[in-house]
Amino acid sequence: MPYMPNLSSPDEKFYSDSVMVLVREIERASKLGVTNLVAHFGSHMGSSIEEGHSKIISGCRRAISLTEGAKVRILLENSAGVKNSVGSKFEYIRTVLDQINDRNRMGVCLDTCHAFASGYDLRNEEAFKKTIREFDEIIGLDKLFLIHVNDSMGELGRGIDRHEHIGLGKIGDKGFRSLFALQVLRDLPLVLETPIDNRRGDKENLAHVKKLLAAI
Ligand SMILES: [Zn+2]
Repeated sequence: MPYMPNLSSPDEKFYSDSVMVLVREIERASKLGVTNLVAHFGSHMGSSIEEGHSKIISGCRRAISLTEGAKVRILLENSAGVKNSVGSKFEYIRTVLDQINDRNRMGVCLDTCHAFASGYDLRNEEAFKKTIREFDEIIGLDKLFLIHVNDSMGELGRGIDRHEHIGLGKIGDKGFRSLFALQVLRDLPLVLETPIDNRRGDKENLAHVKKLLAAI
């Protein structure tokens, strides 16, 4: 889903336009046979986390009812915990999913950079396992359908949403090796959202991921 819409916006016009973007994206995905659509929690813009939750809950419900029968699941992506953001803690995601209560149409995309930025340590095997255990206890691994694999420029818990090349950021190779080694995540699709600059592009990051995988 595009970045501009804000499903947690307190501005009624912007909010209802955002919900209609979600509806159009679901219809588009459905036509293309795409079964999972990643959407962002958005920003409550200073209203409150609770206000943001109630917006995204009713927005998803509305989009689901307007696209009844579509075999497209909305995956809400955990956010980095930037000021006013919604969806940075597993508890918040659980609250929202519980209220929508539709496993066929709702799920989660876990972004490693965002999780790290909002305080979930992923730097080594022990830390990674602890974070995934927490995810399982609070949200449930059966709700996880996709992982965005990104290293983080910012330190743990700083709320900085800046993606870094795999292994060159604060999560590091050790962290990603731990991710790839985790049996429970083995069958999930992984998507890179790493930068393209004079150090590396997508091809090099993919080669780096393959190198880490080969070493397991
Ligand atoms: Zn992402």
